[in-house]
Amino acid sequence: MYADRINALPPYLFATIDEAKANMVAKGVDVIDLGVGDPDMPTPSHIVDSMCEAVRDPATHRYPSYTGLMEFRTAAADWCKETKGIDIDPATEALTLIGSKEGVAHIPLAFVNPGDVALVPDPAYPVYKIGTQFAGGIPHIMPLLEENDFLPDLDAIPSDVLAKTKLMFINYPNNPTSATATTRFFKEVVDFAHENKIVVVHDNAYSEMVYDGYKAPSFLAIDGAMDVGIELYSLSKTYNMTGWRIAFAVGNADLIKGFGKVKSNIDSGAFDAVQRAGITALSSSQQCVADMNRIYQERRDTLLKGLDALGINIKPPKATFYIWAPVPEKYNSIDFSRLLLEDAGIVATPGVGFGNYGEGYIRFALTQSVDRIEEAVGRMEQLDV
Ligand SMILES: *Cc1c(COP(=O)(O)O)cnc(C)c1O
Repeated sequence: MYADRINALPPYLFATIDEAKANMVAKGVDVIDLGVGDPDMPTPSHIVDSMCEAVRDPATHRYPSYTGLMEFRTAAADWCKETKGIDIDPATEALTLIGSKEGVAHIPLAFVNPGDVALVPDPAYPVYKIGTQFAGGIPHIMPLLEENDFLPDLDAIPSDVLAKTKLMFINYPNNPTSATATTRFFKEVVDFAHENKIVVVHDNAYSEMVYDGYKAPSFLAIDGAMDVGIELYSLSKTYNMTGWRIAFAVGNADLIKGFGKVKSNIDSGAFDAVQRAGITALSSSQQCVADMNRIYQERRDTLLKGLDALGINIKPPKATFYIWAPVPEKYNSIDFSRLLLEDAGIVATPGVGFGNYGEGYIRFALTQSVDRIEEAVGRMEQLDV
């Protein structure tokens, strides 16, 4: 009944975890969910108010423009200038997205012919690989190893693969490893992309979720990146807006144009009212972002202290709301996540769910209050591992 592309999908691990969690809840267990990467805090009220007002204006009720409201793209360009120091022409170098997942899934359709290769990191957000496969492309895995600070080793990619490579996905600050990229790495990628004629898609979904004074750079800020790159920014994590479906792509005008052609034939754009709320988010005071980061940082430090007590020592990540922790030697990641759930009522995501190179790790999302994280740590301390 299903097309090959559906039959070829890997089993969806997250559905299995949801089921196991539901079983525990049904048994009356007080489950602490540190599994899903979805902010627990509400969208800031000035953004919600802006949406309420916009949705009452009938002008927002009609089909949006394919490329997005010019006012939204202008607000996005101004925000990029302000926070990342990059110059974006909103008319030609920016595109509104219905969330960056939509962007990741559709970009391969613009640049990958059947049989072409896209370079995808592993462990990673699963959509890079699946978006490539849906376009008929062949994903080539770039392992993200701890000994390389979870950056891909570009020299390890064979030249016959490079000859067929059209696209490369990177994501820093990184989900799930919480690694950050150095400017030196971004420079390497720009040179590599020029040499091998590769389009680079940098998913910067966690660009503002940063700690200890760290600032996540834009890939496009590197000399020459604007010739080869598209960068995706999402309002989802930055402003607790995952449910709203709003993001944007910026980058090389020809690339944006090609991507826009795909989108104009698939979707009809993001709801104008949501884009107006997005303008409010991007152009108002960014204090709400700083406030949320302070909360995540306290949660991070609470969980790290607990892991430390278990003999798991991790350097505090500079960005994202994830803790990527090695599992104790005698377990694989699925066994360990099962143990956490069954013996401590804690949901965390086994690393293998993000790819084979995620084996040996488990991901905690800092999406519960400090109190709940303290409770989780207390339970972990009782575990016999
Ligand atoms: C959460 C996440 C996204 C999804 O963002 P949306 O804009 O909500 O679609 C994209 N990339 C990564 C790496 C993520 O973790």
